[in-house]
Amino acid sequence: MTMTLGVTLAGRRTVLVGGGSVTARRLTRLVAEGAHVVVVAPELSPEVRTMIDDHGLSWRARRVRREDVDRAWFVHTATGDREVDAQVAAWCETERILCVNASDGSHGSARMTAEVRAGDVIVGVVGDSGVDPRRSARVSTRIRELLERGGADLRRVRESAPGGVALVGGGPGPVDLMTLRARRLLAEADVVIADRLGPVAVLDELDPDVEVIHVGKAPGHHSATQDEINALIVDRASAGRRVVRLKGGDPFVFGRGGEEVTACLAAGVPVEVVPAPTSAVAVPQAAGIPVTHRGTASSVHIINGQHDLTDATRAALADDEVTTVLLMGVAAFRSLAGQALAAGVPADRPVAFVENGHTERQRTTRTTLARAADDAESAGVRNPAVIVIGEVAAAGLLLPAAVPTIAAETGRVST
Ligand code: SAH
Repeated sequence: MTMTLGVTLAGRRTVLVGGGSVTARRLTRLVAEGAHVVVVAPELSPEVRTMIDDHGLSWRARRVRREDVDRAWFVHTATGDREVDAQVAAWCETERILCVNASDGSHGSARMTAEVRAGDVIVGVVGDSGVDPRRSARVSTRIRELLERGGADLRRVRESAPGGVALVGGGPGPVDLMTLRARRLLAEADVVIADRLGPVAVLDELDPDVEVIHVGKAPGHHSATQDEINALIVDRASAGRRVVRLKGGDPFVFGRGGEEVTACLAAGVPVEVVPAPTSAVAVPQAAGIPVTHRGTASSVHIINGQHDLTDATRAALADDEVTTVLLMGVAAFRSLAGQALAAGVPADRPVAFVENGHTERQRTTRTTLARAADDAESAGVRNPAVIVIGEVAAAGLLLPAAVPTIAAETGRVST
């Protein structure tokens, strides 16, 4: 019978006998763990030699002797010679040192597990009836898939580790466009501070006792100021809780993620940032608009549409090969378009308004710069919308116009 045991080898003497590929694989794990590693082998494979050089490990360049296992906490023997491995295992048995014997079906007094890590949760898989590493690997792969997508509640019950903050990009809306890392961090979170845009449906999957705080701007409701949000994040994390700040799109594209990172760092709170598809790219894409397209658009200019035109934006709009993408641009669009036309941007420059990208309510309105403000008004274009100005916004770019491809109402690519 075998039981699994979590072992901490950091700083503890660990002897690896043999210099081949099995040793190389174990070295990677043991070095990551911070074990005090000694390798005993007359010769080394190139991988083992590289590990030893890169990490300054000790190497005894000779055949193993009994005294090599002295004072070790853990020994791993993989010499390729059954007799030598059995001898090493026997010394360890006498000395009461745990030993993995790589050439023995019963694997000495210990065996390596197939290991899965998801954040700070570690699962080790071994079989109880002989050694079958491929089966263990297969099982651990399935467990990894489960944990990585946040398929199990990973919250700490005892607050044994300090709190922290993850600024998590949620993408443009659909839950299945979230990254695995985002899902796993949500499964670990004690507190989720969410915007109104983004994958809000994922919040329904959270345990009822996860604290969910909505800070997004909903029309007609008080929305938290950025300072209030920063203070909230820092406050919860300082109290030892794990905080996910869930955002629509990418945290660093008009998401004020930079300010939140600064607030955390200033307060000494550990913070990580998880990227995601930004609506500036993903929403036009949902309407069949590539923001760059060989021969049509060679660069992209992304702006906050609430501000007046800058010289850089005037130049982008005037350039046939630049795509200009406006976020938060619906309210001020008429003024912006007027400034662009006055600056000499061609009146027939294609414009597309893509509302509610990647949702059931997605709608695309295509027009040209001269008519765009009126067309948007008569179509009743509302936020959230991404506005694309540039040749890529023209209908029929990807497929011949004669084929009914991009349905005007839904914007979904169809055949
Ligand atoms: N960090 C986000 C952007 C935040 S600014 C990102 O990377 O996507 C908010 C603006 O994003 C909205 O005003 C709108 O212009 C755009 N937006 C976000 N989600 C959208 C969606 N599903 N459909 C259309 N526009 C969207």
